[in-house]
Amino acid sequence: MTKQPWRALVISAHPDDIEFSCAGTVAKWTDEGAEVTYCIATDGTAGTQDRDLMGKKLHDIRVTESEAAASVVGVTEIVWLNHRDGYVEYNLDLRRDIARVFRRYKPHRFVVLDPTPVVDDRFINHPDHRAVGQASLDVSMTAGTTPGIFPELLSEGLDPWRGLRELWITGPAGGPVVVDITSTIDRKIEALTCHRSQIGDDTAAVGEWVRGWCAELGAPHGYAYAESFRVVSQGPGFHAGEQDDVDLPAAEAPLDPRSSPT
Ligand SMILES: [Zn+2]
Repeated sequence: MTKQPWRALVISAHPDDIEFSCAGTVAKWTDEGAEVTYCIATDGTAGTQDRDLMGKKLHDIRVTESEAAASVVGVTEIVWLNHRDGYVEYNLDLRRDIARVFRRYKPHRFVVLDPTPVVDDRFINHPDHRAVGQASLDVSMTAGTTPGIFPELLSEGLDPWRGLRELWITGPAGGPVVVDITSTIDRKIEALTCHRSQIGDDTAAVGEWVRGWCAELGAPHGYAYAESFRVVSQGPGFHAGEQDDVDLPAAEAPLDPRSSPT
């Protein structure tokens, strides 16, 4: 009997987060036959300096952009939680909303934003990313897996999901697990450039910048282009013996921190 395909759920705060962080990896997964669903936590109404555009008008544009970007990498379904862009707070409503999606889509791999308050020379982690990332991680070990937390979800027909295999954390700090996206870098860039409201019309410059950044991540591993993650696969939230029989490929082993980049 053919095994069912494995599933991934990728949750972001804003409509373009996934394309920046992990669309090359998503394209590889869908190429391999995985079913991938996106969940975007905000309504994307604030990502502009144009006062005539902000609000509902921008939301509508960003829905269209996100659908186009998803379809480039083989993703056909996006769940919008529609929390207000820029106002996301970590509260029980957010946690319940994410638990609802987690239980409905039953991911074997759950890709979440890095919730740590990263500051480096090029980046400050957005407060919406931190709130959505933390709530997503927490759902994986509490509200997603336990019937007594948000029992109202049970009456929606949403049982706890205890078959998660791996949490993939993506964010500015990167992580020790890299994915070779040499075969999908063009689609990552094409997906990212669907977000014209965010990146403007100079798509060539954006493409060059993404190429440079992914090349930097890949270089220590001998890959032309890569994306990087922290992958957690054991501890609270993982329930050996309750997992589906799916052919989930092993994540690439983390780079040995003692080895020096080539
Ligand atoms: Zn964002």
